[in-house]
Amino acid sequence: MDLIYASTRNAEEKVTASQAILKGLAGEGGLFVPTAIPALDIDLDDLAKMTYQETAYAVMSRFLTDFTEEELKNCINAAYDSKFDTEEIAPLVSADGAYYLELFHGSTIAFKDMALSILPHLLITAARKNQVKNDIVILTATSGDTGKAALAGFADVKGTKIIVFYPKHGVSPIQEKQMVTQKGENTFVVGINGNFDQAQTGVKKMFSDAKLAKVMDAAGYQFSSANSINIGRLVPQIVYYVYAYAKLYANGEIKKGEKINVVVPTGNFGNILAAFYAKNMGLPIAKLICASNENRVLYDFFSTGTYDKNREFILTSSPSMDILISSNLERLIYRIAGNDAAKNEAFMKALSSEGKYEITAEMKEQLKDFYGNYTTEAETAEVIKDLYEKTGYVIDTHTAVAAGVYHKYLKETNDTDTKTVIASTASPYKFTRSVMDAIDKEKYDSMTDFELVDELSRISNVKVPQAIEDIRSAKVLHDTVCEVDEMESVVKKFLNI
Ligand SMILES: *Cc1c(COP(=O)(O)O)cnc(C)c1O
Repeated sequence: MDLIYASTRNAEEKVTASQAILKGLAGEGGLFVPTAIPALDIDLDDLAKMTYQETAYAVMSRFLTDFTEEELKNCINAAYDSKFDTEEIAPLVSADGAYYLELFHGSTIAFKDMALSILPHLLITAARKNQVKNDIVILTATSGDTGKAALAGFADVKGTKIIVFYPKHGVSPIQEKQMVTQKGENTFVVGINGNFDQAQTGVKKMFSDAKLAKVMDAAGYQFSSANSINIGRLVPQIVYYVYAYAKLYANGEIKKGEKINVVVPTGNFGNILAAFYAKNMGLPIAKLICASNENRVLYDFFSTGTYDKNREFILTSSPSMDILISSNLERLIYRIAGNDAAKNEAFMKALSSEGKYEITAEMKEQLKDFYGNYTTEAETAEVIKDLYEKTGYVIDTHTAVAAGVYHKYLKETNDTDTKTVIASTASPYKFTRSVMDAIDKEKYDSMTDFELVDELSRISNVKVPQAIEDIRSAKVLHDTVCEVDEMESVVKKFLNI
């Protein structure tokens, strides 16, 4: 029997996995969630022998039950191939008492590649399965990394177009250069004069605009989403937690069934939700440690039970986590509200009208597996510098936020016995300026971005990734900039409708 996906805002809306992937967002702004979390009923000794691709099939086939074995294996093999610069796909590096799960070996050197290299294949397969005739228009808001990863995934994929909105002044120079140099007839990149939340809200509004959907349909188009609200992004992210656990076991670092902690640098709450789903499948995870930067809305939520986005939006050196509305948290809220769409909808309505909501004590009780904390800008820089000086290992700013929170967790709990995996979400090459400033600001201040790249390679002994080499000389191909309230007209212009 197929696993069914339900909307977090409407108990009546139920679809299969392929339909959920195709739609991206449910009606009334809801998100699709699996009505049950399948069990990871595979012996760990078997998992320990599996390649990344085999692990991906083992995990994803349990969620995407209306895909045939052949369809799913084709998607997996097309995604996790030589686009990644290591056969392991997601290697584990041990440094200073923790395991860094490097999720940045794909074509855009950030963890978004883990899901966005497979999403286009899942989407095209889902369209075929559901007899869709329209072209799919991927509409995406990005805080920097999703945009490039989605562009790379969808560029020149037949039957698709992709439009990416990013905050013009809220991404790193390398992130921006990566996006505006994107090739592909079907790619469109727009800077908005606003922040990520405004970009995301604008995109969500277009998704739920029935009139716009009609106009699109008449012109032979329909929207879908590559944002982490698409279940087709969430499911592939569960894979690497299972893979990491199996690798730790295979390497003799943990015993069968031994619980590990997972630390995740969090923005939109997609990555950590995937870890939560992995735990619910039966993976032995003790604490889910949710790390925030100075935009500490999630830390406040976990400590008080009140989610309150009414606060200053802070631009930090970990821009992919500069988010005040963590969209995927809705999936957790729905669950701890007893899978009750009406209750969840009331919270989300309060969030959109008052900017906040407070969960009940009963709901808060179910968050015991989570630990939240945050790392300041100064602490983030210190973490990078200390780890480098101690071990020679260089991490990016987002990963450093996670490592900083892990240190606070250890200090508070003394839980030094539990082996801990830190999700390392970006290559330091993606945030070279901030990383090198952290190590020695005075020395590196006067260097250009690409001089810093070469210097980073020298001090870390890590080869400059292809993704960085590619943009050294690439031409700018996208220069559209618009106001927040012009997003819809820009989309219409691109599509000639
Ligand atoms: C997107 C991103 C995050 C945040 O992940 P979420 O799934 O949105 O919580 C963290 N680090 C990097 C480098 C990212 O690109």
